[in-house]
Amino acid sequence: MVSISEARRIVLLQAKRLPVVTVPLLESLGMVLAEDVRSPWDIPAADNSAMDGYAFSHASLQGMFLPVCGFLPAGTIRSETIPPGQAIKIMTGAIIPPDCDTVVPLEDVQETPEGITFKEVSMPGSHVRKRGGDVSADELVFTAGTLIRPQEVGMLASFGRTAVHVYRKPVVAILATGDELVEPGGERLPGKIINSNSLSVAAQVVEAGGTPVLLGIARDDREVTRAMLQNGLTADVIITSGGVSVGDHDFVKEVIEEMGGELKFWKINMKPGKPLAFAVVADKPLFALPGNPVAAMVGFEMFVRPALLAMMGHTRIIRPLVRAVVTEPIHNNGDRPHLIRALVELQDGKYHLKTTGDQGSARLSSLTLGNALVLIPSGAVVNGGDEVDASLLDRVFEMQE
Ligand code: AMP
Ligand code: MG
Repeated sequence: MVSISEARRIVLLQAKRLPVVTVPLLESLGMVLAEDVRSPWDIPAADNSAMDGYAFSHASLQGMFLPVCGFLPAGTIRSETIPPGQAIKIMTGAIIPPDCDTVVPLEDVQETPEGITFKEVSMPGSHVRKRGGDVSADELVFTAGTLIRPQEVGMLASFGRTAVHVYRKPVVAILATGDELVEPGGERLPGKIINSNSLSVAAQVVEAGGTPVLLGIARDDREVTRAMLQNGLTADVIITSGGVSVGDHDFVKEVIEEMGGELKFWKINMKPGKPLAFAVVADKPLFALPGNPVAAMVGFEMFVRPALLAMMGHTRIIRPLVRAVVTEPIHNNGDRPHLIRALVELQDGKYHLKTTGDQGSARLSSLTLGNALVLIPSGAVVNGGDEVDASLLDRVFEMQE
């Protein structure tokens, strides 16, 4: 049996970064840049007005009045110079004429047919966005490894980019095992249960940024399991659920070995999800998750998600931990560290945590009612009012009044 941290270390050793692909800019959202990016030009390209107002040369200002010589909307440029001692009406974003250096906003002047009278004197250079003030030509703006968020998409677009080099998304094959399983929408005969794991795990793959491929349900038969697993080997990662325990029908481990796979570990010192096998089959990481719905999802969260993120080039692969005050005692009387499902709420800027009730590994409500996991060591007693580190699975919003 390995510890959680040892298991994670072993898994991450096999999580090799995927090849670089070129994708249309918008598709790169959430992916990791695989190239250094320099700005091809100054942004802004020229000094321009930050306000609707009047541009003028500050040195030429004698009193509080300036005659006005024309109008400059955004998107136009003025080639002729402005007569000294005059102002030109200018709209936000329009390029400052070469002989001007300052903009006075509309609200700071009185407009008359003859010109403008200042209500307030502008400081030299005010309300002018300088050329290159955002980024300058040839500046190294992003390095490989940068996570592409909407703001990076915007910046890359402003460099004229329509496509970018990123690390590819992993294709993840998912196989359910068990004679008792039927697909959602199928007939629910007595004794049968719905294969929810394939869907919950596929959703976790999508959320992590990968592409799931559902392989269906393998009956509890060694040959069938093997043949269906074989189909998964074209993917980058293979996930199975169920059949990895010590029951009479738990073939997954044997099948992995028959396929020439190298089993790296198959028991983790944690609850839920002790029977979780990790192997390398045909150079592909294979995760054999437990069958119980919570154990499968928690196993994914703890080991598969970090691996997928690493394969996509992410450097931040572990969820943020927040300090939260527990509002009720939590005991772990068991002999394994327990990943308790919990609800974390923000109240007056402070995180509060309570468990989601019965922590049975088949009780999916323990996850649907919560948004966090908190690791309680074996034998530990946490009292109400104590603080714990909670791993946030979702965003947490301040509670509404
Ligand atoms: P196993 O490890 O195969 O014995 O499965 C443990 C428990 O998880 C059993 O009660 C199964 O019915 C349940 N289970 C296994 N696979 C799935 C699945 N794909 N969806 C929902 N429950 C499952
Ligand atoms: Mg089974």
